[in-house]
Amino acid sequence: MKDIKTEVLVVGSGAAGITAAIAAARNGAKTLLVEYNGFLGGISATLPWLGFHDRDYRQVVKGLCHEYVTRLQKMGGSSGYVMDPKCSSLVSINSHIWKILAMQMAQEAGVDVMLHTHMVDTLREGDRIAGIIVEHKSGRQKILANMTLDCSGDGDVAARGGVSWEKGRTADGLVQAPTLVFRIGGMDKAAFVKGCKDKSLNYREWITPYPDLWKKMQERLDATDVFILGGFAGLMEKARKDGVIDVPQTRVVGVKLHQADQFQVVMTRVLGLDPTSVESMSNAYIKIYDQIPQLLEFFRRYVPGCENSYLLEIAPMLGVRESRRIMGDYVLEAEDLLEGRVFDDAVSMGGYHIDIHRPSGSWVDSRNVKAYTIPLRSLIAGEVEGLMMAGKCLSATHEAVASTRVIPICMGQGEAIGTAAALAIKNKTTVRNLNIQRLQDQLDVQGAEFGQSIGPPNQKAIDEYGQLPMEEPPTEGEMDAATSDQKHWIR
Ligand SMILES: Cc1cc2nc3c(=O)[nH]c(=O)nc-3n(C[C@H](O)[C@H](O)[C@H](O)COP(=O)(O)OP(=O)(O)OC[C@H]3O[C@@H](n4cnc5c(N)ncnc54)[C@H](O)[C@@H]3O)c2cc1C
Repeated sequence: MKDIKTEVLVVGSGAAGITAAIAAARNGAKTLLVEYNGFLGGISATLPWLGFHDRDYRQVVKGLCHEYVTRLQKMGGSSGYVMDPKCSSLVSINSHIWKILAMQMAQEAGVDVMLHTHMVDTLREGDRIAGIIVEHKSGRQKILANMTLDCSGDGDVAARGGVSWEKGRTADGLVQAPTLVFRIGGMDKAAFVKGCKDKSLNYREWITPYPDLWKKMQERLDATDVFILGGFAGLMEKARKDGVIDVPQTRVVGVKLHQADQFQVVMTRVLGLDPTSVESMSNAYIKIYDQIPQLLEFFRRYVPGCENSYLLEIAPMLGVRESRRIMGDYVLEAEDLLEGRVFDDAVSMGGYHIDIHRPSGSWVDSRNVKAYTIPLRSLIAGEVEGLMMAGKCLSATHEAVASTRVIPICMGQGEAIGTAAALAIKNKTTVRNLNIQRLQDQLDVQGAEFGQSIGPPNQKAIDEYGQLPMEEPPTEGEMDAATSDQKHWIR
């Protein structure tokens, strides 16, 4: 087949890739987006979006991501921003409307789109990544590009191109537990809220120890359709003992969505996944599809207001929280987030807590962070020219990516690399030699946030929604009864 030539090539159209492609094209680069699914958005098209704000309720992700939220709202496809003391903020979206909007915006920007196209190899010329090889129904094809942006979530371009990467935690290489999310409908919201107000059920474990926060949350429950759940441990334990569920999860985890009777269930999981092994991924699906009917039964029998709930939709792809992290010119660390570091070459921001779905246990490990910046260097692949990355596969440690991985923060990174790639091409230079001030000025014009305009803590919102302490007590759940059974492990 005929080779394709483009200026900017984006591999993967998830939160990071769709945003990178639109930003590159809007900045004048001929841009091609390659995606192996038949829709744009990756896993962002299956979940509510968390973490637009920091713990002081300042909006740390703006720009293109904010434009998505605004346009989704106009299309009746989102709740708008809802503040939350643990996750800072969330936006409940209609997945289908987001897929429509993502395609519309890609078309408006002039992005060329290749769907059902699998990147299978990387073209490397010396120390430069020159493009990729793809396979699709029409055959095998070479795509050459001035700049390649790896937004595959798995760092596929980097790995095939011989660029260094790491995976999982340092001690044992295990990645965060994955989840296939699904949505249920038919909930009775009033009865569900009544259950959440029953303190003995402990629907939100983070909040329960703080009476003032608990009171504020309770007051809002009737007024909002959108709120997060992480609790009901007693109900889960009872169902496990009754033999109704056998999943390596001990809490109800999910989000009450803006559609009045719908709930996003984030509770299936397996342990020991290798997201870069087809055998491991296939085994994960086999185990998880077996868990879904158990969880549906659990909701109907145990969760208040869910007696008549039914399965609405299973996400089209397994939610892999963590995969290869490409090693770049700088490796973002937990300390950078905990201290709220401001880098000279900051190009985007985050403020979501470090949220680790335990690789070898149930529930999560969590650490609150300050608003932090993301440096351009952590988005430039090390050792080579012509390759940048954003989203799950940015250059960060296992701990740091547990914060940067949420959808808005991935989108912020995507906008930064798309803009940087286009500017570098326009100025006939490399991204490493790009004038950082010029890039930051352009991001500022686009309304993106990289620390230049977040301002002081939003005291009004802190008073209204409350704030958790920076240091919270550790959670339990490493190797508990729910996770110790070998059958939940994939080896
Ligand atoms: C179970 C789960 C629940 C989560 N809950 C939330 C939540 O509620 N809110 C939130 O904000 N964040 C949540 N997150 C985090 C967040 O959804 C993801 O980390 C984020 O969306 C990742 O975006 P990405 O663009 O890096 O990757 P992805 O969304 O994974 O996108 C990668 C894209 O690349 C494509 N691709 C991969 N390899 C290739 C290839 N070789 N060739 C062609 N295409 C390829 C894939 O098809 C995909 O579309 C959750 C994550 C998981 C797994």
